[in-house]
Amino acid sequence: ISSEELTKAVLERIDQVEEKIRAFLTIDREGALEMSRKIDEEADFSRTLAGIPGAIKDNICTKNLKTTCASKILGNFIPPYDATVSKKLKADNAVILGKTNMDEFAMGSSTENSGFFITRNPWDLERVPGGSSGGSAAAVAAGECIFALGSDTGGSIRQPASYCGVVGLKPTYGRVSRYGLVAYASSLDQIGTITKDVTDCAIVLNAISGWDECDSTSVNMPVPDYTESLVADVKGMKIGLPKEYLGEGIDKEVREAVLAAARTFESLGAVCEEISLPHTEYALWAYYIIAPAEASSNLARYDGIRYGVRAVDYDDLIDLYKKTRSEGFGPEVKRRIMLGTYALSSGYYDAYYLKAQKVRTLVKRDFDMAFEKYDVIISPTAPTAAFRIGEKTGDPLKMYMSDVCTIPVNMAGLPAISVPCGFSNGMPVGLQIIGKAFDEATIIRAAYTFE
Ligand code: GLN
Repeated sequence: ISSEELTKAVLERIDQVEEKIRAFLTIDREGALEMSRKIDEEADFSRTLAGIPGAIKDNICTKNLKTTCASKILGNFIPPYDATVSKKLKADNAVILGKTNMDEFAMGSSTENSGFFITRNPWDLERVPGGSSGGSAAAVAAGECIFALGSDTGGSIRQPASYCGVVGLKPTYGRVSRYGLVAYASSLDQIGTITKDVTDCAIVLNAISGWDECDSTSVNMPVPDYTESLVADVKGMKIGLPKEYLGEGIDKEVREAVLAAARTFESLGAVCEEISLPHTEYALWAYYIIAPAEASSNLARYDGIRYGVRAVDYDDLIDLYKKTRSEGFGPEVKRRIMLGTYALSSGYYDAYYLKAQKVRTLVKRDFDMAFEKYDVIISPTAPTAAFRIGEKTGDPLKMYMSDVCTIPVNMAGLPAISVPCGFSNGMPVGLQIIGKAFDEATIIRAAYTFE
């Protein structure tokens, strides 16, 4: 099959289902077909992604292709440059199909906060695909692309992957360059992969990993070939099962699916033991100080002068800023900016931000201690399977709870993968496998058990 044939097949699939699912904000048909023809002509298939059509979350810059972060304020933004990951995909001869829907500026857990439209879960159109990378996860699950990139600040790759029954990997902080990823909370953000299976995950991770001089937080360490981890062998692997992730608030069928996965590991010769990560319950609350604080600072740049959309009627400069930001940002983004500005204001800094940073250290220490003894830690990816559209939009705290299992991992900067491990009420359930820093290879090996 040629790249053009494959790209056409995927575009046909988009024609069939996109009207219902609405995973894409931008579809670059012509660009994709042109790219595929060029690749066929060159006939250089030495690179693993050559000719394979993929989609990119709309907070990752793509040269000459609109990048909106699903926000009205960036509704007309066409980046003059590629994010490092976009550049790497192109250098690998991947075909870029378009940009996927998301919660505005990656703030949310259901893609209902998109400033443009909602995306639906391909398994049940009345349910959310998760978020914030809901467009990427839904597109992969519905066969509208072969792979997709997402970003994960507090679970935004793993949770939608879990809700849509696909594989999502958040690499270690620093493994993949964030250059060209529109910043939400810079100390937590990380770009990763959403794929149909673990094999594709290893292939795409190979393509995007590595040090980048344009991102000072990317780490200069050798990148292994992740496809070498695609071996069915967990014999002797030490697996920790933290009791804090299986208690109250976790749906019964989700818990059972995770315990069944633990038994599968044991039957293959791994050792599973219950462990405790005692500071888990504080991670979510500390996250909702740290992430909004960083967001309030990062989003200060949208003033109507330098990027995106500018208000039309205004009296003076201050009025221009105010109107642009009032009209351009949606309600959840405004909520985060207010929370973050409050937490950072003088007099409150010590009480909130500093305290939250201390909690973050404790959460990280829990993991450090566990990883002295265990190779990986497993848990549910999310407390429940995909919820109904509209079910949580009225209550931000309920929405925030859907990331309770994924957020601690970002706080500690660790890699984690979500892999389908069962069903709850007919909807897919994800198993989260957390690894040591820069040990993506081991979580891929463990996840391969479920391939
Ligand atoms: N749902 C979380 C939030 O709204 C996580 C988002 C993310 O990972 N980008 O902050």
